[in-house]
Amino acid sequence: MNIRTTVLPLGVATAAALGLVTLAACSSSDDAAGGHHNGKLDVVASFYPMQYLAERIGGGHVAVTGLTKPGVEPHDLEISPKQTARLGEAGLVVYLKGVQPSVDEAVEQAKPKHVAEATSYTTLEDHGTEVDGHGHDEHEDHGEDAGADPHVWLDPVRYAEVAKGVGKALEKADPDHAADFRKNAAALVKELGTLDREYREGLRDRTSDTFITTHAAFGYLAERYGLEQEAISGIDPESEPSPARIRDLHATAKKDKVGTVFFETLASPKTAQTLAGDLKLKTDVLDPIEGITDESRGRDYLAVMRSNLKALRTALGAG
Ligand SMILES: [Zn+2]
Repeated sequence: MNIRTTVLPLGVATAAALGLVTLAACSSSDDAAGGHHNGKLDVVASFYPMQYLAERIGGGHVAVTGLTKPGVEPHDLEISPKQTARLGEAGLVVYLKGVQPSVDEAVEQAKPKHVAEATSYTTLEDHGTEVDGHGHDEHEDHGEDAGADPHVWLDPVRYAEVAKGVGKALEKADPDHAADFRKNAAALVKELGTLDREYREGLRDRTSDTFITTHAAFGYLAERYGLEQEAISGIDPESEPSPARIRDLHATAKKDKVGTVFFETLASPKTAQTLAGDLKLKTDVLDPIEGITDESRGRDYLAVMRSNLKALRTALGAG
């Protein structure tokens, strides 16, 4: 499939790629423009939580490709010209604005025919990405604000809203299989409802509300269940905390009787371990589920969310 040894500017290369693919595939059927290959809808998903939705809801009618390889921290992903062209050829692109700036840009350039953009199906909030301490801004906005927290998939209720939206987008991209997409989406939404209930019940009788996490991924989850997230770094796990932030965390840990500092599977645990060592606290994994690897505590979204619940129950004295 490689026709891009060209020095054309990206947009032109993409248009050329589109034209060639259409020509090549159009002779057999007219659904090439809809991005079908071997009878399956060709879906590109930006990173794991989007991939999971596409696979669960698309079922046997879709072939899903992930842009972010397993084990790669997704926030800093770079998109190659080849991948950008690939987006333009897809039958549906599923992504989440604000997590991966290079994907956002590539989708804009490639202009896929069908797009499911996760934040358009739910509400966003600003969880104080400056990591300036305890300011939890409660105002709502709809994604245009650079300060909006993109980690909506860690709230089962918001993730269910996104699942419904992705289901609708699949119906549009592949109307022949709309009934199956509706059925699969409904089944997933039901499972997410069960997960939500497990969180509510599992965290009910806790002795503490505050947990320290590596990057600020759990703002929506914290809010949903009445918890307080204190993040070492901001929305991007690779950003370094300031000395003032570290002092702040020391004070919070003492005041709120924090017992555990959480690290994650895809980002460096170094700062979390140093902080835990200094404060003589335990460490454990709280997984932002930005990718699934062999180290993940579970094989898919639902399983890792349940491992996260278990870890939170222990850390907050609810277990
Ligand atoms: Zn993140």
